[in-house]
Parts: sequence; structure tokens; C-alpha cells
Amino acid sequence: MNNSTIRVRFAPSPTGPLHIGGVRTALYNFLFARKTGGKVILRIEDTDQNRYVSNAESYIIESLNWCGIQFDEDPIKGGPYGPYRQSERKGLYRQYAETLVSRGFAYYAFDSELELEEMRDRLKHEDPSMAQYGPFTRLSMKNSLTLLAEVVQEKLSNCEPFVIRIKIPEKEDIIVHDLIRGEVVVHSHNLDDKVLFKSDGWPTYHLANIVDDHLMKISHVIRGEEWLPSAPLHVLLYRYLGWEAEMPAFAHLPLLLKPDGNGKLSKRDGDRLGFPVFPLQWEDLITREISSGYRESGYLPEAFINILAFLGWNPGTEKELFSMDELIEEFSLERVGRHGSKFDPEKAKWFNHHYIQRMAPEELSLLLTSQIVKHCLTTDPIYTARVCSLIRDRVTLIPDLWNNAWFFFKRPETYNEQVKQKIWKPETTQLVKGFAEEAGRLDVWNKEQLHGLVENYLFSMNAKMGQLMNPLRLLIIGDNQGPGMMETEELLGKEEVLARIRIGMEKING
Ligand code: GLU
Repeated sequence: MNNSTIRVRFAPSPTGPLHIGGVRTALYNFLFARKTGGKVILRIEDTDQNRYVSNAESYIIESLNWCGIQFDEDPIKGGPYGPYRQSERKGLYRQYAETLVSRGFAYYAFDSELELEEMRDRLKHEDPSMAQYGPFTRLSMKNSLTLLAEVVQEKLSNCEPFVIRIKIPEKEDIIVHDLIRGEVVVHSHNLDDKVLFKSDGWPTYHLANIVDDHLMKISHVIRGEEWLPSAPLHVLLYRYLGWEAEMPAFAHLPLLLKPDGNGKLSKRDGDRLGFPVFPLQWEDLITREISSGYRESGYLPEAFINILAFLGWNPGTEKELFSMDELIEEFSLERVGRHGSKFDPEKAKWFNHHYIQRMAPEELSLLLTSQIVKHCLTTDPIYTARVCSLIRDRVTLIPDLWNNAWFFFKRPETYNEQVKQKIWKPETTQLVKGFAEEAGRLDVWNKEQLHGLVENYLFSMNAKMGQLMNPLRLLIIGDNQGPGMMETEELLGKEEVLARIRIGMEKING
């Protein structure tokens, strides 16, 4: 295929927040298009008015922007095959449904909800596999296959509610050629006469999706495995609409599984299992329930992309850290697996940790500065960058920056009581006081000088490292954790260190 004809699309329905599986689908479409020199399109499939959620589209767009997944054509920037929101294309679908009716591949149906329920109830007892509107039931229902043409006409002119259903063939093997799964054969008795169009003027997903893929000249449909059961119906629609020759190639991506491998990772799993399943935080406007997002939890978009890339694809080498450009270079559908991919939250953190370690101190310092500002404090960029260099290896998620660095920007107000009980001995106060006096006489304040001072002082006092350093740490940062004490003292500066020791001693000794 000529690369300029490769066109793929990501086609989310704005029925709620985009799940990480959806972002992965968008990513693979993007990578495939960029790798092959084709185009990637964003199409919003908003035909299901009952499930429409008003803030979902902007959420989807913001999520994809955050990830750095860009589209060549989309609802905002438009393009040669727009509009790219199905609700804005509403008027064009009916003619295709009518074409199918006139060719005998679809029919009008007038059954009420009650009649449909009766049919299902009746058949549930006889043969549950038949309890659907299809080849074995349609002739006993109220539709244009069973009613006289005049009656059908009359019902249509009286604006009686109707749907247009596809007429699934009775006995046929339908073949879907899938680039990931190979040949998938489904017998038509497993399919039902799906609704394609409703009298309220809205097409269903199946019709709108096929019509738009055709009109937008989509060459490859890359989507989640949950759509594989719909693919035979889609193959039939291409055939019945006379578009079989231009039918796109299908690639159904493996499912994302829960960390234990037991079933599909669902929208509800994240906060239940302790990790986000959404790219950004999501607020349900009705229940006001908030679900966590990768962005707000402190993941870098580059790391998030790298995590998603590996959920179903691998490069076939040991290399795990890939920038977007490297992914574009390496990506191919041939290396997408067939089997479900387990989501591993620890591995996700591992990726983020590595990306944080690879950032320049100046970049990290910008992230830390925004947290410092949130705490109504000010800082200078060079100092902040030095702090970042000192603490970065303790940082996995962005909030860890502040949690490991706050004491470089403000004095401790409390002192860990448990630590104090454990380390504060009768001789401690004297030992620390003596050290502070000697430190006050230092002309050059750096970690080397401090180190020398500590060694000599401990020797002269016949004391051990921990006897002095643990109390010093408690006085200077309020706790027993943190980066190296000499480095911390060097960065804080002489005056500040001595002030903290003095204030801390007053508070601790009461
Ligand atoms: N609108 C469908 C969805 O929400 C698109 C499925 C497809 O890509 O065909 O995922």
C-alpha cells in the first residue's frame, strides 16, 4: 500500500472518561500513522444520546494533548473529510440505511419494547441462543419482511416509531482478516439483526462507524479487542454497501488485564486496586465522585506513554525506555501480541522513576518550584536545582519531590516524637551544643569541611557517628530520613543550620 493512503482513526465515544486502554489504542494508531507516513484522525462518536456525558469530549482531548498524541484531522482543527463529530454529520447516515433496505439487506421493524421482551422471554425457555432478533425470529415479528408494503408505507407516513435492522444471512461463515489474530471465522447464527438506524434520526454506532470509516477513507481500523465481536457485522456492512474492495484492514489489540491477570482492567478497578486507570483525574458531574489520574498522581507524560506502549507491544529487545520518537521508529503491528497484557502498577512506577532520573536538574526544578509556590513559599532557581540533584534518586512520582525536599524551603515545626524518644540521650544536648560551637567557627562551609569537623569532633569526644548525626538530623529536618547530612547542611548554609540547631534544642529540651 502506498503510504500516503494510510489513514487511521481513533474514534472514542464521549460516554465518560477515557480509560488507559483507550489511550493505548490512540497511541498505537498514532505510532502506526507516524511510522508509515500516513495520517491519524480523531473522530468523536457521539451518536448515543442516552450515554452522552457533557464533559467527556473535552476530557478526551485534554488527555490526548497531555500525552503528546497529535492528530492530523480532528473536530477542532477540521480537515478534508470533516466534520469529525458524528452529531454534526447526523443528516448523512439515513440514506445509507435506506440503500441497504432497498437492496434487501436491511428492513424496517416496528416492534414495541413489550413485543421484543415477549419474544425474548418466549425463546429463553425454548432455546436461549435463539432469543434474539435474527434469522430465526424476524419472520414472526412486526417488520417490513412480514407486513404488507402498504402497511409499512402507512406506518412510515404516520411517523410511527421504527428502527432499521440489518438482515443477517441465515447460514454463512463470515471471515474477518485481522492483522493481529489472523483469520477469524464467525458463523452468522451467532449474530443478530442489529439496529442500524432509529426513527429519531440517529444512526447506531455500527452504521455511523462504517459509513464514516468509508467516507474518511480509513485504511486500517486499529481498536480494542472488545470490538472483535462486532467485526463480522462490519464486514457484512461493507459488502452490502458495495464497499468491500475498499474495506479497511482490521487490527484488534489485546485486552488490558487486571494485575493478577483475572479479567479485563475495568474503569472501576483503579481506585479499588490503588492505582489510576485514567490519564487525568475525572470528576463525575452527577455523583461528584472523583477518580484519580496519572497526571495528578505525578506521572510524566513521557513515562505514561512508555508504560502504555509496552502493554501489548514489545520491541523484541531488552530495551525498555523509549521516547515517542523512538517508539515511532520501532513500532509495528507485527510486534503486537495476541494475548491480554497484565497491567503492573509497580512497573508503571518503575518507568516514572527512570524518567525522573533522566530529567535535567533545571527541568526537575521547575516541577519542584510549582510545588513550592503552592505552599506559598519562594525560592531561587539555582538553589532549587541543587536541591533536586540531591534528592532526585528518592523520587518516583512528582509529589515525592516536595515530600523529600520541603525542609530545604522551610524550617521544621515539629520533631518526630518516636525518633526523639529513641535517639535523644542524656549526653546528647551537650554533644550537639559543642558541635554547634565548633561549626560556628568554620570559615568555609561545605561538605568536605563539615566532614572533617565531624570526624575530629567525634574523635575528641570519644563519640560515635550516630550519636551526633541522628540528633542533628532531627533538629535540622525534624525526622530521621532524607539525603546525606553533610550535603544537606552545605546547601542550607551555615546560618540556617546553626539557627535550626538552636531553635530545635529549645523546643526539644522544653
Ligand atoms: N466509538 C467506539 C468506541 O467507543 C469506536 C470503536 C471503533 O474503533 O470502531 O470505542
